[in-house]
Amino acid sequence: MTCLRLILGDQLNVRHSWLREVRGDVLYVLMEVRSETDYVCHHAQKVLAVFAAMRGFAQALAQAGHRVEYVRIGDARNRQDFAANLDWLIATFGITRLERMQADEWRLERLLVAAFDRCGLPQAVVSAEHFLLERAELINRFQKKVPRMEFFYRQMRRRYQILLEPDGEPLGGRWNYDGENREKWPGDPPAPDWPWQKHDLRALWQEIVDAGVQTMGEPAAAAFAWPLSRREATTWLADFVVRRLPHFGRFQDAMSMRSQTLFHAGLSFALNTKMLHPREVIAAAVTAFANGDVSLAACEGFVRQILGWREFIRGIYWARMPAYGSLNTLDARRPLPAWFWTGDTKLACLRAAIGQSLESGYAHHIQRLMLTGNFALLAGCHPDAVDRWYLGIYVDAFEWVQLPNTRGMSQFADGGIVGSKPYAGSAAYIHRQSDYCNGCHYRHALRHGERACPFNSLYWHFHVRHEPLLGRNPRLGMTYRSWLKMAADERAATLAQAEHYLAQLDAL
Ligand SMILES: Cc1cc2nc3c(=O)[nH]c(=O)nc-3n(C[C@H](O)[C@H](O)[C@H](O)COP(=O)(O)OP(=O)(O)OC[C@H]3O[C@@H](n4cnc5c(N)ncnc54)[C@H](O)[C@@H]3O)c2cc1C
Ligand code: SF4
Repeated sequence: MTCLRLILGDQLNVRHSWLREVRGDVLYVLMEVRSETDYVCHHAQKVLAVFAAMRGFAQALAQAGHRVEYVRIGDARNRQDFAANLDWLIATFGITRLERMQADEWRLERLLVAAFDRCGLPQAVVSAEHFLLERAELINRFQKKVPRMEFFYRQMRRRYQILLEPDGEPLGGRWNYDGENREKWPGDPPAPDWPWQKHDLRALWQEIVDAGVQTMGEPAAAAFAWPLSRREATTWLADFVVRRLPHFGRFQDAMSMRSQTLFHAGLSFALNTKMLHPREVIAAAVTAFANGDVSLAACEGFVRQILGWREFIRGIYWARMPAYGSLNTLDARRPLPAWFWTGDTKLACLRAAIGQSLESGYAHHIQRLMLTGNFALLAGCHPDAVDRWYLGIYVDAFEWVQLPNTRGMSQFADGGIVGSKPYAGSAAYIHRQSDYCNGCHYRHALRHGERACPFNSLYWHFHVRHEPLLGRNPRLGMTYRSWLKMAADERAATLAQAEHYLAQLDAL
């Protein structure tokens, strides 16, 4: 009797109950397969990070005494997909039972159900023991009606007793300090660099290249920066809590040429691969507050991301897939401009955000939402193309979290399930929150004319063309009133400018 337990690249949870005892009748299997590297064009650092973290994880399991079979990307036995590899693994190791953890991606869950079923062996599927809410409960709660995030978040605070007074009311008398978290960053306090690692992954990169995997972006394999083990991830968390969390809330929505990472955590890769548990990340922030090291506003702003947004987004994904993955409420049809793959554009803010994404596989939330996402929304780019780009380019991109953030939050393709109005912004927003506009080819204050910032005319064009759908949205009343207050010739010139830009997006 030998049981094969499959562990996926985003299931690197050393504290999983599977691993509490060493059993001679269990074989742990991890596989690097082309079916996973090729379903979208990934960033080179994403492929490197997942494979390197998997290899380290397998090594740690073996050192702890577990039986482990690791299938490398260039392994001659590797048939490059889960089902085909299971065939020879079952035959080679005399496997009599199959077990796996629930996959977080709908695509992968469906694929693994089929792969396991066709083997005809007894099988079991267990929780990955990572999220605060189990999938069945989430589906149950989100299927009929998706709650508003704020309501869900308050329930989660109460359920997990986080930042509460003894009577169940929020500490400090408020649930939400968002209003205090919108400052522009003047350059002070200085933004501490992340505790980048310096792994030499050149040999692994060569294996990936030799296997023919196509990627985008810089591999940076000689001094690879992302945390690749639980030990490194916990160091990263501790560094965040001491050096960046105190200013996280205040500058959460800021963007700057002078710092790509500002006071953000950089923990999404470690969380999404399950090297860190959300509960320990929340606990670290709450302890820092309890010790008087960070303010309530900073702590709450951060807790909301993990306890609120992360679980909420997952609820939408699992309750609404697969239909959610093809929603296109705004009927957006344009391709993404070619410079999304090069960063070669005259829009300084997008050049910076795309350039850094290609360089490091990272952009922070506001860059993703209010720069690249906002541009694609205003320009009417097809959500399939937008999804593929986001799913590929970020090291933390796994579909369960990428898709509702992209298609829902940033593209409003779900018609208002994630957010009650589109996250659309003109240059005024970008100028207020960043220092990008100062050296830009375009002028942030102009709506039309040769150097007019494209965000301005596209912003108005977007609202005018979607007026039948959005015109009655109470949260957009002021926007539409402002448009109507503009002189008729100003409105005409603005729309003409937008048409001009839309006809030549690649040249912007
Ligand atoms: C268009 C778009 C695409 C996105 N794609 C992804 C993705 O593929 N993978 C991903 O993990 N996040 C995604 N996000 C959410 C968010 O931008 C990233 O989680 C965050 O930028 C990761 O960097 P950080 O760890 O420095 O985050 P911080 O800003 O420091 O936040 C801390 C943590 O909170 C969680 N978090 C914050 N916001 C969200 C959110 N909206 N949804 C889920 N978790 C959140 C993350 O785990 C993050 O690590 C996307 C957002 C947008 C607008
Ligand atoms: S002027 Fe417009 S394009 Fe240039 S940086 Fe500002 S918002 Fe971006």
